[in-house]
Amino acid sequence: MKSIEKLIRTIPDYPKPGIMFRDITTLLSDAKGFKKAIKAMAERFEDQKISAVAGIEARGFILGGAIADRLECGFIPIRKKGKLPWKTIGQEYALEYGVDVIEMHEDAVAKDQRILIVDDLIATGGTAEAAVKLIRRSGGKVAGATFIIDLPELGGAKKLSDLGVDSHALVAFEGH
Ligand code: AMP
Repeated sequence: MKSIEKLIRTIPDYPKPGIMFRDITTLLSDAKGFKKAIKAMAERFEDQKISAVAGIEARGFILGGAIADRLECGFIPIRKKGKLPWKTIGQEYALEYGVDVIEMHEDAVAKDQRILIVDDLIATGGTAEAAVKLIRRSGGKVAGATFIIDLPELGGAKKLSDLGVDSHALVAFEGH
């Protein structure tokens, strides 16, 4: 996946000192790179009877919509608190300082549906773990989670594996 790695722009010290921000907009704007990334993320789950992709706001929407189209399944938005118009269920997750909440419509997932979680990057895994909990609380099954980027030193993929979730990323970067 060398070409995908090269298409990701790294911005040091954004949004704050010490963070290496992995910017996928340079990958998204490259027609071949974008297509290749979507194909690789979807391929692994093609035979897994996915009922719907759950995309995490906001970059998970761009990737998740395209992956859902490839897998010929539905799309479910997981959003920051207060953004969804219908009745929601929410799940807290830890930030470096304090907590945040993500929400999903309470009727978005039906019992035993097989859901694939999609986001651009997994770092500590806090956001993805909250998404797993929302889906399971709704009676759904988490069929897997797919990301473009993994930051293995932050332990997110391990966290998902401990939760029994099969996670997959196209590239891995060292550090934060
Ligand atoms: P976490 O919950 O720690 O796994 O963080 C994952 C979420 O934060 C994803 O939605 C990412 O888009 C974003 N994120 C965390 N770290 C970075 C980073 N170094 N570069 C870009 N996005 C990041």
